[in-house]
Amino acid sequence: MPEKRSASSIEDRDAKRIFAATQEAGLSRIDHLVITHYHTDHVGGLEALAAMIPIGQCYDHGTNTEEANQRWVDVYLRVCGDTRTVVSAGDQISLGGVEVDVIASNERIISTPVNGGVANPLCATAEQKAQASPENQRSVGVLFTFGRFTFLDLGDFNWAKEVELSCPVNLVGEVTVYQTSRHAAFDDAGSPTHLYAIKPQVVVVNNGPRKGLGGTSPGYDEVMTRHYQRIAASPGIEGVWQGHRSLFASGPDDNTAEELIANLEDTDACEGHWIRASVGAGGAFTMLNSRNGHSRSYTAR
Ligand SMILES: [Zn+2]
Repeated sequence: MPEKRSASSIEDRDAKRIFAATQEAGLSRIDHLVITHYHTDHVGGLEALAAMIPIGQCYDHGTNTEEANQRWVDVYLRVCGDTRTVVSAGDQISLGGVEVDVIASNERIISTPVNGGVANPLCATAEQKAQASPENQRSVGVLFTFGRFTFLDLGDFNWAKEVELSCPVNLVGEVTVYQTSRHAAFDDAGSPTHLYAIKPQVVVVNNGPRKGLGGTSPGYDEVMTRHYQRIAASPGIEGVWQGHRSLFASGPDDNTAEELIANLEDTDACEGHWIRASVGAGGAFTMLNSRNGHSRSYTAR
């Protein structure tokens, strides 16, 4: 039986995983770091990471309003207190060749469409849900654009914010790669009004064995375990990649093909295999699963 890990060693494990990704990418420093919001799964390893690699400019949504997060705000301020920028929806960050649009921050969303956003016919039948955890809906959401290729990451955006972003106009247009909001706990995110309007070609599910995909969110008693099928039914989808096999709903119909899943087990020895997107200037990109070396190539539409 593996020893139970302490909180600090988990922070260290995850920082090492992110550090390994920077080394794989040939980086000697992280120039820009976006903290979507002050929850442990989005900022908890930051201090350990900062001890491994220099970090430049940090971006955040501003003031914390959930007392339970103060420990993580303190971590953030220790690392980024002198280099932080509070971003607002509509801000742009240039990475030199890659443009970053701030879509959302601190509950506000962009007021004019980007990326060719147009009126969304799915709004006529949009199902609405109540706002969930305030800190989740404050997430900094970003759209990366590199030529034809776009990548959308809305942190832990919830269903209500997704509908706000998608109706009456889908403000973010269609995207190439979408990282699931709320770790694909799609009782509280994954609104079809939003998902089927942004029409991702490739979806990366940032779930855990018992986090997100296939499970329920606190505050929701609805049991909806067919989250994967909702993603797989997205129009124009070409690939779904998962960080972990879901153990909430572990069957083959509720998970993507095994070769597209980075981590299959639920043990403290989980190695944290990663999924990488390598993007070329012409819109061609390749997804790679570090567990088995399986890769697939796509072309941004
Ligand atoms: Zn989260």
